[in-house]
Amino acid sequence: MVSIEQAQQTILEYITPLETEKVSVLQGLNRVTPEDHIAPWDIPAADNSAMDGFAFSHATLTSNRLRMTGFLPAGEVRTIPVPPGEAVRIMTGAPVPPDCDTVVPIEDVKEYGEWICLTSSVKAGSHIRKQGEDIRHGNVVIPAGTLLRPQEIGMLSAMGTTSLAVYRRARVAILATGDELLEPGATPAPGKIINSNSYSLAAQVLDAGGDPVLLGIAPDTLDATCEKIKSGLNADILVITGGVSVGDRDFVKMAIEQLGGNVTFWKVNMKPGKPLAFAILDGKPVFALPGNPVAAMVSFELFVRPSLLKAMGHLRIFRSKVKALLQEPVTNKGKRPHLVRGIVTVHEGRYLVSTTGNQSSGRLSSLIQGNGLIKLAPEALHTPGDEVEVLLLDRWFELGCVGDVIA
Ligand code: AMP
Ligand code: MG
Repeated sequence: MVSIEQAQQTILEYITPLETEKVSVLQGLNRVTPEDHIAPWDIPAADNSAMDGFAFSHATLTSNRLRMTGFLPAGEVRTIPVPPGEAVRIMTGAPVPPDCDTVVPIEDVKEYGEWICLTSSVKAGSHIRKQGEDIRHGNVVIPAGTLLRPQEIGMLSAMGTTSLAVYRRARVAILATGDELLEPGATPAPGKIINSNSYSLAAQVLDAGGDPVLLGIAPDTLDATCEKIKSGLNADILVITGGVSVGDRDFVKMAIEQLGGNVTFWKVNMKPGKPLAFAILDGKPVFALPGNPVAAMVSFELFVRPSLLKAMGHLRIFRSKVKALLQEPVTNKGKRPHLVRGIVTVHEGRYLVSTTGNQSSGRLSSLIQGNGLIKLAPEALHTPGDEVEVLLLDRWFELGCVGDVIA
């Protein structure tokens, strides 16, 4: 049996980034750029006013009175120097005129006709945004490998970018296997169950920024399984669920081999899950995950998601791991590490975690309430207050946005 980490490492060695494509700057959101983005100019382009107020030369101030000379709205430039003892009415964002180095805000002056009076002392250089204080011409502002968030989109736009290269979205073909499966919407029938895996996995693909392609259901025969697998080989990655154990009707491994794939088959030392086949077939990574709904999703989380992110150029491909305080006694009676579905909350700056109850690996509801996976060592015996390692699955946690929900 291999460890989760060993399996991850071996798989990731086979995954290389896909090609890039040119998209509009807005379509770059949540994508990764393969290029350094270098500032084409200083931002701000010139010293400018941070407030609506009056600009003047601080060094030439002889009293708290200044004579008003002219008006400078944002978008306009004044090239005429401002004489000593005079001030220009200036709006936020307007470039500071020649010979001025200080802005006093409107609320700190009293106006008397063409004169203003400073009502409190003003520090030299106040309320001026310096040229290049945001970004400097020639500096790498967004390095290659950056995941583009709204703030990066804003910065790219400020640098005049209208389109850019990003790694393309991986197309992930998803195949369910099993004679017992019916598609959602079909009339339930004795002995049949609904194919939910295709949809939970497709949603996981979408959530990671990939493009799922549903291949439907392969019945439990070698030929049908081969046919369906072949139909998925124009995608970038193929994910199959079910049929990967060693039962009489488990044809997935055999089918991949028959099609010429070299299959690495592991029993991964984990629960839920365990059987996992990984192959390269026609140059494409193929993941065969367990059929059990929880095991399928947890295996996707641990093995497919990091691969998908790597293929799409991400440098950060693993979820955040945190230490959390257990809120209830928890034991792992088994000999495999158990990934227990947990509910993580934050209280006074500390992560707390409780389990989602019955951890039967067929119970999809054990994932519904949860937002984390608690990693329990074999034969672990924990009491409340023990610190345990938790993988945060909820993207809001990743972003550090752990807030209250509305009533
Ligand atoms: P298998 O690995 O093919 O033996 O599947 C294990 C169990 O997982 C089956 O008995 C089904 O209950 C369940 N299962 C397999 N495939 C799916 C699927 N696509 N959707 C929901 N449950 C599934
Ligand atoms: Mg099956």
